[in-house]
Amino acid sequence: MTKPQPLIAGNWKMNGLAASLSEAKAVAAGLTEITARVAICPSATLIAQMALALKGTSVAVGGQDCRAEASGAFTGDVAAEQLADAGASLVILGHSERRAGYGETDALVAAKVEAALRAGLEPIVCVGETLEQREAGEALAVVAAQVRGSLPAGLSGRAYSVAYEPVWAIGTGLTPTTPEIEDVHRAIRAVLVDMFGEAGRAPPILYGGSVKPSNAVEILAADEVGGALVGGASLKAEDFLGIIRAGSPNGSR
Ligand code: PEP
Repeated sequence: MTKPQPLIAGNWKMNGLAASLSEAKAVAAGLTEITARVAICPSATLIAQMALALKGTSVAVGGQDCRAEASGAFTGDVAAEQLADAGASLVILGHSERRAGYGETDALVAAKVEAALRAGLEPIVCVGETLEQREAGEALAVVAAQVRGSLPAGLSGRAYSVAYEPVWAIGTGLTPTTPEIEDVHRAIRAVLVDMFGEAGRAPPILYGGSVKPSNAVEILAADEVGGALVGGASLKAEDFLGIIRAGSPNGSR
């Protein structure tokens, strides 16, 4: 069965200056015969410039987080409306670096997802187990609970994706085996269908965690893998394009 159009999203994290926009432009220039949907999520400081630089290309721009409130006295935070105003069309929410580093709970992530929808942004909602949880045999239960807690009912029928990112695979060079990825992705799909009925079959379930050109073909071909969320390897256009091509089996390789 052919897979629906995959989404390959780059998470630049706290990397990149104005000079790095050349990498984003090189990605856009390299997207010939590409069937995947592509997005880059830079720091908030770069969103407006990147949206301008990529105007007229098929690369979308996204944020890496947003505040749940639309405005107010929240020094240093960014509202979903501000991301959209700067030119973003997507936003990563609930990344494990925010869950762990800023104590973000499933309920807070769900409130941020509501904010993204309110602002017309497409949320990429991250979930994933720690190494301790995997070793204790709790991966499926932990991820299922995160999906239930982080996705508000308002998502039904809206464009969004879930990114399965095992915490122990992020930035480490380690990845789960393909059957392990498939087990978790199938479990996430089952939860989505349980929560949203048939509409739960539509959103792509991305895999994230040490995806690189050399492992992307196998990962992206796996059952229920509908794209990738890419950290380190999205910073260099050549590497990111290698992953994008792996996710575009009908396009150039
Ligand atoms: C991420 O942080 O979203 C991520 C997947 O990072 P990396 O690809 O560097 O493991």
